[in-house]
Amino acid sequence: MNCYPSHGPAARRKSCLVRVGDVAIGGGAPIVVQSMTNTDTADAAATVRQVAELARAGSEVVRITVNDAAAAAQVPHIRDRLERMGVNVPLVGDFHFNGHRLLTQHPACAAALAKLRINPGNVGHGAKRDEQFATMIEFACRHAKPVRIGVNWGSLDPELLARMMDANARLSEPEEAAVVTRRALVVSALESARQAEALGLPHDRIVLSCKVSGVQDLVAVYRDLAARCDHALHLGLTEAGMGSKGIVASTAAMAVLLQEGIGDTIRVSLTPEPGGDRTKEVVVAQEMLQTMGLRSFAPMVIACPGCGRTTSAFFQELADRIQGYLRAQMPVWREKFPGVETMHVAVMGCVVNGPGESKHANVGISLPGSGENPVAPVYVDGVRTVTLKGENIAGEFQRIVEQYVSDRYSKRSPTTHHGSAEKQAAHTAG
Ligand code: SF4
Repeated sequence: MNCYPSHGPAARRKSCLVRVGDVAIGGGAPIVVQSMTNTDTADAAATVRQVAELARAGSEVVRITVNDAAAAAQVPHIRDRLERMGVNVPLVGDFHFNGHRLLTQHPACAAALAKLRINPGNVGHGAKRDEQFATMIEFACRHAKPVRIGVNWGSLDPELLARMMDANARLSEPEEAAVVTRRALVVSALESARQAEALGLPHDRIVLSCKVSGVQDLVAVYRDLAARCDHALHLGLTEAGMGSKGIVASTAAMAVLLQEGIGDTIRVSLTPEPGGDRTKEVVVAQEMLQTMGLRSFAPMVIACPGCGRTTSAFFQELADRIQGYLRAQMPVWREKFPGVETMHVAVMGCVVNGPGESKHANVGISLPGSGENPVAPVYVDGVRTVTLKGENIAGEFQRIVEQYVSDRYSKRSPTTHHGSAEKQAAHTAG
C-alpha cells in the first residue's frame, strides 16, 4: 500500500473568463500576478517609470490610483508613454468616492484603462450610492471595460452592514459579529455584481474581491464567495504589512485558497520599507505561485540554509549572486529561451546534502564545507561534469549555468522544455 499518496493542488474552481486587455483572468487561465503603484498618478513620469518597473519584474496587470482630476487627466498620457516604451501591460484604474465624477469629466481616462476597480463601500451613501455606482458601471459598459468589484474590510458598505447586524440581532441565537461582518463582505460583492449586471455589464466583465487583513478571515470569506458564484476572483490580503510579516501573512492566507483551487489573480500588498523596491511584491507573488508548483516565472535557486559545517559566507554570496543573475536575465531569456523558467539551480554548502541536492537540479554545485578539500564539484543533469577550485569558482559556475541555458533552452535545441520539465517533476517528487 502506498502510504504517501501524492496530493497536488485541488482542481481549479471553474470561473468565468474575463479579458483585461490581452490578459485572461479566470476560466482556467494561468493565475495572473498583479501589483499596484504607490506614485502620485498626477506625476506621470514617476508613474510611468514605476509601472514599467513592475511590468519588467513580471506584473501582468498594474493598478494605479485615480483619486482626483489631476490623476484622471494624466491617465491617457501615462498609457501613451508606456506604449511608446513598448510596455503594453494593462492598467487598472482604482476609483473611490469621486470615480463617477472623474469618469464623467475625463472620459479619455476610461478609454485608456483596461479595467476599472470599484469599491462598493466607497461610492456614496443612500440614494446617491446607487446613482454613482450606476454612472461608473455605465462608463465600463460604454467603453467595453471589465470591472473589479473590490470590497474591502476597512470600507465595507456601512448601511449594508447595519442592516445585516440588525437582522442578526433579531435572531433567537444571533451569530458573532465577526461572522456577520464576513458574510456582509460577500453579500456586498455579490449584490454589487448583480446590480452591475442589471445595469448591462456582461457577466464575463466582472471580477470580484473581498479583501481583509486577517489570515483566517480571508480564507473563510473566499471559501464562501467561491461557493456562491462563478465570477473570477482576485485574491489578496489587504494591509498585509511590512517585510517578513507581510510576506508570511499573504502566503499563509493565499496558499490555503490556491491549494483549494480558489483564486484567478493575486496581489501581495506589501508595505515597502522606506525607500524599498516596489517590485518586491511582484517577486513574492511569483515565488508563491512557483513554489506551490502553480506557475513558473524564473529559474529557482535551491540553497541550503548553512550550518556549523560552513564557516564562510561564500556559499550564501554565491546563491545570492546566481539568484540575482538569473532573475536579471529573465526579460531577455523569457523570449529567447522558452522553458528556462522551470530550471532549478542548486547551491549547497557542504558534502552532506550537496551532491544529492545538486543531482536533482538541472545544474548544481556542492561547495566545500569547513575541513573539506577546497574543491566544488558541479553536476549537470545529475552527472558530475567538472570540479571547480581556486579564486573564481563563482564566475566559472555562472558561466556553466549560462552555457546550460543556451544549450538546453535555445529555440533551436531539440531538448527545449523536455529536460527541464522532467527535472522539475523529479525535483517536486523528491
Ligand atoms: S548542506 Fe551542509 S552546510 Fe548546508 S545545511 Fe546541510 S550540512 Fe549544513
